[in-house]
Order: sequence, then C-alpha cells, then structure tokens
Amino acid sequence: MQAFEATNYYFHQAAKCLDLTENIRTLMITPDREVRVEVAIELDSGRIGNFIGYRVQHDNARGPYKGGLRYHPAVDQDEARSLASLMTWKTAIVDLPFGGAKGGINCDPRKLSRGELERVTRKFIEKIHDMIGPHKDIPAPDMGTDAQVMAWIMNEYAKYEGFHPACVTGKPVEFHGSAGREAATGFGLAIITREMLARLQRTIAGTTFAIQGYGNVGSHTARCLAQMGGRIISVSDAYGAIVNPEGLDLAELDRHVAVSQKIVGFKGGDAITNEQLLTLPVDVLIPAALGGIFDRAMAQAVQAKLIVEAANGPTWPEGDEVFVARGIPVVPDVLANAGGVVVSYFEWVQNLQHFRWPLDQIQREEEARLVEAFRDMYDLAQRKGVTLRTAAFMKAISRVGRAKVLGGI
Ligand code: NAD
Repeated sequence: MQAFEATNYYFHQAAKCLDLTENIRTLMITPDREVRVEVAIELDSGRIGNFIGYRVQHDNARGPYKGGLRYHPAVDQDEARSLASLMTWKTAIVDLPFGGAKGGINCDPRKLSRGELERVTRKFIEKIHDMIGPHKDIPAPDMGTDAQVMAWIMNEYAKYEGFHPACVTGKPVEFHGSAGREAATGFGLAIITREMLARLQRTIAGTTFAIQGYGNVGSHTARCLAQMGGRIISVSDAYGAIVNPEGLDLAELDRHVAVSQKIVGFKGGDAITNEQLLTLPVDVLIPAALGGIFDRAMAQAVQAKLIVEAANGPTWPEGDEVFVARGIPVVPDVLANAGGVVVSYFEWVQNLQHFRWPLDQIQREEEARLVEAFRDMYDLAQRKGVTLRTAAFMKAISRVGRAKVLGGI
C-alpha cells in the first residue's frame, strides 16, 4: 500500500459513517492540481545537481491551499499527494480558512551545503512562483526545511510578485515570522496529549514518554512535556536512540546535539536502536519523524499505552487495526500535530494586517483552538462509537463537503 492509499483508507472509513456517495467521495479525494518540476543547480563541486520538486494542491474549498515543504530523499509524488490530502482534513478539523497542499524536493539536505540549499530553494520557487501566493497557496516548513528556507522563499517570491510576507509561513521572527511558530507543533502536541491523558484520568506529571525523532517537532514536544512534569525517557534521530529510565536531562541533551548534530554519544543515557525505542514499555509513544512506522508487526510489538502521532502518516491501516484490537488509543496526526498550521494561520493573519501579536496571545489562542477541536473529536468518537481518527475525519469531511456544496461544484 502507498501513502496516498493509506490516507484514502482513513477517508473512506469516515465517509462510510457519513453515508457519502461514491461520486462525492471521488470528488473529495482527487487532488486539484499536481506539479512536478526539475530543480537543477550548480553544486559547490562545479557538477550539476538534478533534483525533482513537487507541489500537490489537494483542495481549496475552504480557502487558499496550505501545507509544508519537505526536503528528503524519500519525497515523491505519491507522498506529496498523501500529505496534501492530510492537510485538507487537518485545516478543516481546526477550522482554519485554508485548504490543503504539500510539496517538497527529492534531495538529502544533510548532504547539501548552505549555499546549495539556498540555490535549490530559489530554483524551486522560480519554477512554481505563479502557483503559490498569499491568497493561492502558502507553503511552510516540514521535514528538512526550516525558518531560513522560508526566508529564502519569501525573498525569491518577491522578485517575481513583489513584497508579500504572507506568501509563506514559518519565517524567522525577525523576518516577518510569528512569535511561537517554531515551537507551535510541539507545544500543540503537549496540549493535545494533556487533553487525552485527562480523558484517561491521568496527568502529564508522572507519565513516561518515548519520542521518535528529535528535530523541530520532536524536540519542542519533549521540552514542553518536560516543562509540564512529564518524564522523557527515550528519544531518537536518524542516527540512533538513547534511553534513561530516570528521565533524560533535556538541557544537557540539547547542548550535546548543538555540538555533535546528533543524539548518539550523549552520556546521559544508554544507546539503543531506533526499533527498540518504539517497543519500550512507556506510557506514551510519540512518533515525530517519518511516516509509515507502524505496520502490523510493529503495532503488535508496541508496549506503550497511548500513541500520539506527531509525524504525518506514521500508522499504516493494518497497524491501526492492531491498535484498535489491542485497545491502544491513537490520537491522529490530523489533530495531534495541527498546532503548527494553527500558528501558521496566525502568522498569515499578522502578515496581512502588518501587525504583531505577543507570544502569550499566540499560545493562548493556539491552545483554545486545539482544546476545542480535541473536545469535538473526542465527543463525536464517544457518541458514534468510532476511533478518534475516524471521528476527526468525519468532522473534517463534513466541513469540506459543506464548503463545496455552498461554493458550488
Ligand atoms: P525535522 O527535519 O526538523 O526533524 C526530523 C527528525 O527525525 C530529525 O531528528 C531526524 O534525524 C529524525 N529522523 C529521521 N529519520 C528517522 C528515523 N528513521 N528514526 C528516527 N528518527 C529519524 O522535521 P520536523 O519538522 O520535526 O517534522 C517531523 C514530522 O512532523 C514529519 O512527519 C512532519 O511532516 C511532521 N510535522 C511537522 C510540522 C512542523 O511544523 N515542522 C508540523 C506538522 C507535522
């Protein structure tokens, strides 16, 4: 099964509960537009580097397309399609006036110099500038991209279309970005985890966590949960994992990562494999790296009592069935990691108004939006006797469907 098929499987499960006709289902899952461009640059060595860039615009019934840009060797059209579709449902669940899109470049950013990364980014925007924009399609960071990449995008876009800071979100705070955007996905994850634990009569304090991936999302999630009293006992990155049953000292870990650029070698924990992290007997397991982690076998091997999906698409449908059968609740990606796009929305609004909001206001409004969306999803799941994921998709499909009907097909 491919990633887009997996996303559509979840869509169909919810569509069944909503009695949607086959025609409407096809209309809703088919992406509006898919673009594939060659991104050729001169590498530092003088050779030509040939990369392929993608942008998939899935649906804009509720507003401009919105979604991140991923730089990773596994990026392809199917993955972009799957992630674009997830964005349509995600922006609807948290009720933002956006649709869904996603894109990326098939490259390994760890092997590119800063100059090469900038040239790749500018060349990609040169190719797609006419299809993005503040009221068309607004990119943001995802795996392998960060605030600096977003700054280059804004600057390159301006060369063709003029000054429009709202053409991209996730920019540096001192370059038209928003306070709280960098930590927004991790902060939101911690809020959603708190809400879910409360439904299970638990608190973050006294709960143990393992987090796969220690990049933007994973590291901010870890810090927020630790600040709320959680014990982070294991984290990993692409090179390996570490564990300390007493709880990792995150400040020390961050100092280590700042120097060595990887978790491996940190003295405050024992080395384990990435696979071992996923099967640790923790209370909460948070996948915060790539998609497609939990297949049937891995879902059987998991010992955690709760999964909160920080990554997009970490659970294959067959893994999801195992979690359901084993009674392990899964808080789905489309809500769990929506904090990033919520604050991207606040950044977009601030840019359009040429105004700045303080951090406490951003976090208060992010929290309020996520808590409300979580309550809606949880209550619907209880009422209908469906999983949290199906409830989240039902909510989203209803909103997108209503917009399509009102706007006219
Ligand atoms: P990032 O590039 O900042 O970090 C990714 C981390 O995962 C790195 O630590 C990397 O070393 C690690 N990693 C890669 N392969 C791994 C493997 N096989 N095992 C363990 N670790 C591995 O990316 P990010 O922005 O933190 O995104 C992580 C996930 O969160 C992605 O699925 C992304 O789509 C999702 N997401 C990100 C945002 C955002 O605002 N950045 C918002 C919503 C969802």
